[in-house]
Amino acid sequence: MVNKTAYELGANRSCIRDLFEYGRQRAAVVGEENVYDYSLGNPSIPSPKEVDETIRQVLADTDSLLVHGYTSAVGDYATRKAIADDLNERYNAGASPEEFFIGCGAAPELVAVLRALAVPGGDVVAIAPYFPEYKPFAENAGLAFKVVPPDVPSFQINFEELEKAISHKTQAIILNSPNNPSGVVYTKETLQKLAYLLQDKVMDCGHPIYIISDEPYRELAYGVEVPFVPNIYSDTIVCYSYSKSLSLPGERIGYVYVPQMLSDRKRVYAAIAGAARAAGHVCAPSLWQKVIARCAHLRPDLEAYDRNRKLLYESLTAMGYEMAKPDGAFYLFIKAPGGDANLFSEYAKAKDLLVVPGDGFGCPGYFRICYCVSYDMIKRSLPIFEELIKE
Ligand code: PLP
Repeated sequence: MVNKTAYELGANRSCIRDLFEYGRQRAAVVGEENVYDYSLGNPSIPSPKEVDETIRQVLADTDSLLVHGYTSAVGDYATRKAIADDLNERYNAGASPEEFFIGCGAAPELVAVLRALAVPGGDVVAIAPYFPEYKPFAENAGLAFKVVPPDVPSFQINFEELEKAISHKTQAIILNSPNNPSGVVYTKETLQKLAYLLQDKVMDCGHPIYIISDEPYRELAYGVEVPFVPNIYSDTIVCYSYSKSLSLPGERIGYVYVPQMLSDRKRVYAAIAGAARAAGHVCAPSLWQKVIARCAHLRPDLEAYDRNRKLLYESLTAMGYEMAKPDGAFYLFIKAPGGDANLFSEYAKAKDLLVVPGDGFGCPGYFRICYCVSYDMIKRSLPIFEELIKE
């Protein structure tokens, strides 16, 4: 006997993975250059060269037992201090090392935070479009998963629907900005309006409602400000990851920030550490903690993504495709011509152009493309986009 939910999650690949695998098979048949794969968000710019240099330095100047040994369960002090210093410098956050839990990337951090906040009968609210894994993470933690329909066409927040979704059962709202899949960055005005709404709701329901700010794309913004959410709403728990910001998705490193001002901070922090412990997820990779201790200040060089973004946005808009302005991350979320994104994705697939329908992101009728691909592939794929919209 096996657990039914776990079995179903493991046995059924996500639509994104399916498309990606299909792309690999097609490439073997028709040639790599004839498949236009926009399915998977794997960074296509290398990590800053300082990251590799730092690995060598750490290996050269640190005792091997320390490099490869267990660290403190919540992470090395030096790593937490470097992150706190960086946030203080950039956002005047007033952070100290005790407020951080070093995790293995945003996914397990979200799992720990949701588990920490799960009370019987509680729910968590996500704003469409949202990262599809939120649903299994929340449900596995024992929280009901509620979805706020999208604010079309800007993909900011649909406040009318959000207001209806929040109740005395609501433990948290998950935010993701810059957003996967829309590429939209929530403005300061949007976040301030959200903070006012939550403050009102907290008065009604008599317990904190936390924002869980999922921030793997925080550093991927093109000429716009990404507001620092804890400075706008103090009951914010940040889940950060270096997967995209330093192009390190396979290394599994990030952090949870539980700010000093957070309501019930000590208990929330202990519950996050406890939830991570129960999941067997403590002591993030030690070498990577030591690298981050020296590289927390690094930012990616976004030139290649920005070039891709401009080419796609300008070309597709000129062809008649409609999408919100993609100011961040590396995604475009496009209205499917004809209205049915699954059908559009099928037509596109028949021409070896792989795009992901928006249903899994809580947003049918749209499809996502990831532009962390080569500029040349984008140029070669444009005539196919043109054919598809004409058809
Ligand atoms: N949250 C969002 C919005 C993502 O897009 C991703 C990965 O693509 C994750 C979380 C998981 O990131 P990580 O690789 O840090 O676990």
